[in-house]
Amino acid sequence: MVYDYLVVGCGFFGSVFAQQARENNKSVLIIESRPHIGGNCYTYEYEDTGISVHAYGSHIFHCSDEDTWKYINRFTEFNRHQHRVLTTHRGKVYSMPINLGTINAFFGTDLRPDQVAGFLETQRTVNGKPANLEEQAISLIGRPLYEAFIRGYTKKQWGCDPRELPASIITRLPVRDSYHDAYFNDRYQGIPLGGYTPIFERMLDGIPVELGVDFFDDRQVWEKKARKIVYTGPIDRYFDYCYGHLNWRSVRFELERVQSSDYQGVSVMNYADEDTPFTRIHEPKHLHLERPWNRKASVIMREYSCIDPEHPYYPVNFSSDREMYEKYAELQRERPSVIFGGRLARYKYYDMHQVIAGALAEAGRELTGA
Ligand code: UDP
Repeated sequence: MVYDYLVVGCGFFGSVFAQQARENNKSVLIIESRPHIGGNCYTYEYEDTGISVHAYGSHIFHCSDEDTWKYINRFTEFNRHQHRVLTTHRGKVYSMPINLGTINAFFGTDLRPDQVAGFLETQRTVNGKPANLEEQAISLIGRPLYEAFIRGYTKKQWGCDPRELPASIITRLPVRDSYHDAYFNDRYQGIPLGGYTPIFERMLDGIPVELGVDFFDDRQVWEKKARKIVYTGPIDRYFDYCYGHLNWRSVRFELERVQSSDYQGVSVMNYADEDTPFTRIHEPKHLHLERPWNRKASVIMREYSCIDPEHPYYPVNFSSDREMYEKYAELQRERPSVIFGGRLARYKYYDMHQVIAGALAEAGRELTGA
């Protein structure tokens, strides 16, 4: 049988596209190299603990776009989790993203909101348009805060000097002159009540999925299986690295079951100092306060940043990468029978809601001409 679409990769882009295609009476087959659905959003229930573990790190759903929110709510209900992150620097705990609480605790001051801008002005040593992440951070918060909370973490996370990184990475993080300490400001936020995997199970209802299958092991065979391909894997691999390897960062997790009701008191604790080898510790039970609290056990995951070409997570986006990606993008445009989507195929640091919105838009254009 020749399918209408072969979807390569079972994360959000591939699954949303497949769901929309099936809803429009198209035939779809999904192949996925991992042994599970859901891509990096995959969650599972840990042993007998009642704890839902996010296998690839804490995934907090947040968006302001009503269409995306309505769409995802077709497949799950969400709890009311408002994400808060803390960071440990030289043994003391501060609130992230940097807000008035962080600033007053760090400097031992008692500034009010209307004094923050003037205070930070005295800390800024970079003028003009920031050329890299370090300059961007210093122009936002000044050098002392940058050195305490950004430099070490960023060096660990990206494996290079922040001066080599694009300013755009840090613009993900706001700086606040109030005590508002929620990580996101979006209108809609939460964690799916049953974790993420059931979302994918419901989306993919009635769609054949072949797990543990790598497209590249038998590329020519797979290419004949469908009229069109939706490819969500790494873009450089699709084109056989003809322009070279893009830089990707990955993370690995050390999971531990601990005999403790509460290990760290928060779902994510960042570690800002360079001499702490991990970047953060996740304690997923804090993402589901609506569940019965396990008083005897918790699960923690230490996150280490690394390079792992088999499992790319984050596009690094050095300027050489941008140039290389543009050349790959040109090849993408020349291939109308393939739809490229998601973080890996677009080499872009998307969040989940952006991937979902992108897949809905792409499916609309493709399936209904919308
Ligand atoms: N960052 C930092 N210190 C922190 C948290 C974040 O320097 O405590 C910087 C770091 O460069 C990171 C970027 O901000 O890569 C984006 O952080 P975010 O929490 O959005 O990363 P994600 O959760 O997507 O890994």
